[in-house]
Amino acid sequence: MNYNAWFQCSQGCAETYPLSEVIYRCKKCDGLLEVRHDIDALKERSAAEWKTLFEQRYMRTQYPYGSGVWGKKELVCPNIDDNNIISMYEGGTNLFWADRFGAQLGLGDLWIKQCGISHTGSFKDLGMTVLVSMVNQIINASGNIRAVMCASTGDTSAALAAYASAAGIPAIILLPKEKVTREQLIQPIANGALTLSLETDFDGCMEIVQKLAARPDFYLANSINSLRIEGQKTISIEIVQQFNWEVPDWIIIPGGNLGNVSALGLGFLMMYDLGIIDKLPRIACAQAERANPLYRSYQTGFTEFSAITARSTQATAIQIGNPVSVHRAIRTLRRFDGIVDQATETELADAAARADRTGLFNCPHTGVALAVLIKMVERKQILPSDRVIVISTATGLKFPDFKVEYHNVAHGEPPPRYLNAPIELEADYERVLKQIDTHLDT
Ligand SMILES: *Cc1c(COP(=O)(O)O)cnc(C)c1O
Ligand SMILES: [Zn+2]
Repeated sequence: MNYNAWFQCSQGCAETYPLSEVIYRCKKCDGLLEVRHDIDALKERSAAEWKTLFEQRYMRTQYPYGSGVWGKKELVCPNIDDNNIISMYEGGTNLFWADRFGAQLGLGDLWIKQCGISHTGSFKDLGMTVLVSMVNQIINASGNIRAVMCASTGDTSAALAAYASAAGIPAIILLPKEKVTREQLIQPIANGALTLSLETDFDGCMEIVQKLAARPDFYLANSINSLRIEGQKTISIEIVQQFNWEVPDWIIIPGGNLGNVSALGLGFLMMYDLGIIDKLPRIACAQAERANPLYRSYQTGFTEFSAITARSTQATAIQIGNPVSVHRAIRTLRRFDGIVDQATETELADAAARADRTGLFNCPHTGVALAVLIKMVERKQILPSDRVIVISTATGLKFPDFKVEYHNVAHGEPPPRYLNAPIELEADYERVLKQIDTHLDT
């Protein structure tokens, strides 16, 4: 079967470009480009046949089809030759049944999709495998690309550096100085990327990288490049597959540059088009109150949108005031009867810490989504019988200071609600026993 996909202008002029072209915006009208698929060709396989095919490949060893992304290759990027694919077995991430945390909230069907349990520790791997594979294909066809590059809040650069180094392609990383964690900073360094720490915020790095992208020999890996969205949309397909092809009621996802919420929607729409599912979930996008341009727009019924200057938040990966994918995100939220809510610094930290006590280890962005979940349950927007998925975007291990500061005795007053500070004690049996008794009795 001849499957095909291409870039198409999303601003109505419908101009098309091959996926192998180094292009991010429409030449005619400057609109953002989206990847479109030959849906009729895909429809020649029945929904049942697609499901069987995906089940046969899922997490098996036939390279690259065991990957959660490449197991859905026909729906993601059929144009890439298998020999050019750079895969690290992305996807296939755990769907954590949060039964204890759910019970505390009165929910019986709450799940956390652990997208951060992956090669570089965030969901960014899902999109980067597609983008770097395409760059690899262009280079192998003797295209003139000298390097791939991105501006990042930390996780995109980690993913780009890892995949580029696996492919042997030079990577250039622009990071806002002192605004990413040590763990995030060391990833591109270890992978040999040129790592530039700039005295600005993410939006400032983005401005510079967009200028660099005018050069045809640098390939831009930010999510303005829709190839990444194609990989990320497998999150939806994988969730539905993990539930035996049943669609959940609600999905809550943290949003910064807003590519991922758009990808989530795209995955569901594609399954809907192909008859793999017959309904859509509702989507809630969760923002940090200190970086909330989409929340503000939602307050106007999405009739207005203004970029803002994002203020400093613990949820550094979503500290973005001028999200590049805002229009696609709004379109997605309208289609999915979606909502947008926000979380304060205290709310996000408490929500992450509270859920940690039920076996999770949440990053601050997942904390934002969990805080929004709690509010939605309190408002009875989410009902006890609803099946709810929270998208956990990164592993908490990339953000240790977030937790170390929370669980710090020297914390200001009042102490955080779920504080669990370590206790320093003499190495004395009686004292140790007394301390344990006091702990267990209170
Ligand atoms: C990139 C990222 C996000 C935000 O995704 P967008 O597509 O920019 O909205 C959220 N959480 C983490 C951990 C991320 O790395
Ligand atoms: Zn156009």
